[in-house]
Amino acid sequence: MKKHNFSAGPSILPQEVLKKSAEAVINFNGLGLSLIEISHRGKDFLAIMDEARALVKKLLDLGEDYEVLFLQGGASLQFSMVPYNLMKENGKAAYLDTGSWAAGAIREAKKLGTVDVVGSSKDASYSFIPKGYSLDSDHSYFHCTSNNTIYGTQMKEFPDSDIPVVCDMSSDIFSRVLDFSKFSLIYAGAQKNSGPAGTTLVIVKKEILGKVKRKMPAYFNYQLHIDKGSMLNTPPVFAVYTSLLTLKWIENNGGISAAEKRNTAKASLLYNEIDNNDLFTPTVRKEDRSAMNVTFKLADDFHKEIFDSLCKSAGIIGVKGHASVGGYRASIYNAMPIESVKVLVEVMESLKEKV
Ligand SMILES: *Cc1c(COP(=O)(O)O)cnc(C)c1O
Repeated sequence: MKKHNFSAGPSILPQEVLKKSAEAVINFNGLGLSLIEISHRGKDFLAIMDEARALVKKLLDLGEDYEVLFLQGGASLQFSMVPYNLMKENGKAAYLDTGSWAAGAIREAKKLGTVDVVGSSKDASYSFIPKGYSLDSDHSYFHCTSNNTIYGTQMKEFPDSDIPVVCDMSSDIFSRVLDFSKFSLIYAGAQKNSGPAGTTLVIVKKEILGKVKRKMPAYFNYQLHIDKGSMLNTPPVFAVYTSLLTLKWIENNGGISAAEKRNTAKASLLYNEIDNNDLFTPTVRKEDRSAMNVTFKLADDFHKEIFDSLCKSAGIIGVKGHASVGGYRASIYNAMPIESVKVLVEVMESLKEKV
């Protein structure tokens, strides 16, 4: 039976990407060798790394003042690398507390300086994005999370600021058009919306680096990675290649503006059902709803068993909400076809006849 996988991450990738990357593991580019057994310093892999780094900038419409890196350690390591590289000595930075991942970034930054939490929705179970916060010129940088994977909220506006704006875009990069030149640093674990687990995309504006003198582990230093062309050490070759295939798939399907149209259509379909079916309730404020992770609850938990079994019979998996939130979460990233969203909506409709 066809499966409809709504997992939050690692999440689905386009079928054609999976086929091509599987093929490359056996016989890469007809070389008679596996992608994962050739030298990362050889011309075949260098071409992949160069193309992937260039394509990221092309898709996001960023210029020569930005560098692209494919690192390891997940988005979680970026929680530390960002303050190591950007927090001035005895400095302070502004953070927006919009969910568990944002809170994780705050926890790490506090180890290196003062953190001003300029806005938080923690007391409201992170059900909205705080707005109207202010930043000041003493802040080394401002850190935010564009899409809160666990809670299902998404930032629609970002500040125009003279201080560097840093954004964790793990779960919505390449999903919508933004003015990406507003950001000085963007990072994203690939496994949500841009590739398999194993690599983290970092996009950094060169001019913000080199302003702090702090000693740090070499691997933490963005500049060293830039100087080595994102090959300071052995890069995660399979994850980089599969990310490149995913980026090409986005490009061949009309780039991120077309991706945004598809994503908006999918999200509208699902939110429309949540709003109009009395058996379900939304969990976050309407204006802050995520187009990537759609969270909702049953109006009556008594219906859980029957709804779960309807999902199972329809081949729907991965819709269980995060343990800290409960309820349901349907992750509808770039690779999710609208047909799968329609199947979920039909199941939600069919619950009416069963209760
Ligand atoms: C999943 C996620 C993370 C953690 O990513 P890892 O690559 O597992 O470290 C961080 N931020 C956001 C927004 C996420 O969705």
